[in-house]
Amino acid sequence: MLAVKISGHLKKLSKKNDAVRKQFYLSESELRFFQKEDSFNSSGFSDPLLEEQYEKTKGLVHKYKNRVLILLTLTCAAYCRFCTRRRKVSDIEKGIISQADIQKMLAYLLKNPEIDEVIFSGGDPLTSPKILKYALKEFSRLPQIKIIRIGTRLPVSNPKFITKDLLLTIKKIKQPVYVGIHFEHPAELTKETISACEKLRKAGAILYSQSVFLKGVNDSYEILYELFTKLIQIGVRPYYLYRCDPVQGIGHFRVPFKKEVAIATNLRKNLSGLAWPTYVIDAAEGNGKIPVPLDFWEFNKGEFKDFLGNRKNII
Ligand code: SF4
Repeated sequence: MLAVKISGHLKKLSKKNDAVRKQFYLSESELRFFQKEDSFNSSGFSDPLLEEQYEKTKGLVHKYKNRVLILLTLTCAAYCRFCTRRRKVSDIEKGIISQADIQKMLAYLLKNPEIDEVIFSGGDPLTSPKILKYALKEFSRLPQIKIIRIGTRLPVSNPKFITKDLLLTIKKIKQPVYVGIHFEHPAELTKETISACEKLRKAGAILYSQSVFLKGVNDSYEILYELFTKLIQIGVRPYYLYRCDPVQGIGHFRVPFKKEVAIATNLRKNLSGLAWPTYVIDAAEGNGKIPVPLDFWEFNKGEFKDFLGNRKNII
């Protein structure tokens, strides 16, 4: 079960903003799921992206040819109730990665020289600075590694944890360091968060954002227009807008697909091209983040094909 943890920063923000509160506080729907009284919410998958199946050594997921996902920790500064990895996030003990685990990952990379990109994720890797620092140092030493990515929500959930030490670590990496920050609502762009983004940028990180369509949080053209416009203005390039994964226990966050397509179509018409993220479905039990066509085209809104050509129903 995903633990409940809310940072002081988000508690304050939640008092003023319902969309922030809904992301972090337990809801009636989720409680009914825990009590096994909600069959709708119990449908879906525990691990829709098949990460357990593709885990090659502890913490390393190799699904796509040239890149690996590294789950450095299962801890976050606050736990999002709609987390795709809620099957294991917040299991702190299970998520501990040691230096020996990192060495096993490096050995795997050396045996697979086609891998040129590492994506640090979790949990939130920025909440475990010691092992992150070690991993960054070790991975960046490998000549085969050309790109380093870090996925985080820390600038939103606990911006003061973007420390000088972390910034210095990023500054020293010779490869481009892309930091993907998870944003859901413009209310998350507080002055502390904007300042954390600025510090990361000044340390040389290239910033991009990831967002998920969430019912009752951001399923509105106006909210997403404001979010993506403000992000590009503070130097964070909107990158992906996801359909919420069909994970057990989070069905109440899923927005009707046609509504999402209509919102995304309207956003495409009006946003600056730079502020437009790619709207995708991460194929459940499949392969690939599949771009969703917009209402400029007529298309089958019931199914799509993943990277391997497998037909998938839109859930
Ligand atoms: S910060 Fe990321 S990993 Fe942590 S709970 Fe939220 S979505 Fe999950």
